[in-house]
Amino acid sequence: MPARILNGNEIRDQIKAEVAAELQQFQECGVRPGLAVILVGNNPASEIYTRNKVKSCESLGIHSERLILPETATTEELLSCVAELNGREEIDGILVQLPLPPQVDSKRVLLAVDPQKDVDGFHPVNLGNLVTQRPGLIPCTPAGILEILKRSGIPIEGQRAVVIGRSDIVGKPVALLLMHHNATVTVCHSRTRDLPRVCREADILVAALGKPGMVTGEFVKPGATVIDVGISPLTSRADVERFFPGDAKRMEEFERKGSTLLGDVDPSSVYPVAGAITPVPGGVGPLTIAMLMVNTVRAARLRRAQRPVAVAR
Ligand code: NAD
Repeated sequence: MPARILNGNEIRDQIKAEVAAELQQFQECGVRPGLAVILVGNNPASEIYTRNKVKSCESLGIHSERLILPETATTEELLSCVAELNGREEIDGILVQLPLPPQVDSKRVLLAVDPQKDVDGFHPVNLGNLVTQRPGLIPCTPAGILEILKRSGIPIEGQRAVVIGRSDIVGKPVALLLMHHNATVTVCHSRTRDLPRVCREADILVAALGKPGMVTGEFVKPGATVIDVGISPLTSRADVERFFPGDAKRMEEFERKGSTLLGDVDPSSVYPVAGAITPVPGGVGPLTIAMLMVNTVRAARLRRAQRPVAVAR
């Protein structure tokens, strides 16, 4: 039987509808949650990501603004931008789009974000809250992966989960979330020996290694759920033919746009083996933006709960 496709766009729409209902309650109190996105320089991918984030938030009625600093911005300039946003009462969420230019001390900048407004969940205070299962803001992509599993009825408790990748942004937090949901979790990385054998033990396999198409059918236990986090553009026709043999739709997209997206999973060898899988695009990606909205509303709720006076715009 071919793998069940876990449709991230449908789950994103469910979550957006829930956020919209919550925003309605805010509106009734005269409050509009606000998000500020800081973009430094003109990295084309970051430019698209931040524009999409702001557009999606605006479409739901979250106030959103994008602050654009030049490629030459210094750490001090970014710190003062963050300090100003920390102090603005009507801003509930601050997101610093990564990567920052090499002259900027990214760690110092991320540490400067008020943890209560850290909608990316990257601040050590929020990561500490996650480790110790206290309320806080959870990184968007890992939180989105859990939503996909839960809303698709994939059991987590007691299951064997293998996460490939140990980054602070995806691998580590998703491993913690799976563990907190009572999965037995193994985290693999670039030094793991016999990766396919370890991965084949997984009932739930999360591929977050950033190596396009590396996870083949040999890594997957028949019937397992595969979450493909990677997103890489394929820009050569030979690669598109290799990874999507006979796929006319993909080839047409490649001809039109000059590229197509591939995850960390090799679709033609994994789809016949997996029980369920997130596609790329349309799997984990849409959830990342949906969870940013969830976090912005959550940040507004948590922060305002500590300050009983609502701030009207
Ligand atoms: P990263 O480069 O910070 O981390 C990659 C991890 O994979 C590292 O821990 C490394 O040890 C491991 N790794 C690398 N090569 C490996 C190999 N050959 N075998 C085993 N492990 C290996 O990347 P990241 O920020 O965690 O992102 C991972 C991927 O997910 C990237 O493709 C990124 O674009 C994508 N991503 C997607 C979303 C989304 O919304 N869909 C969000 C964040 C990241």
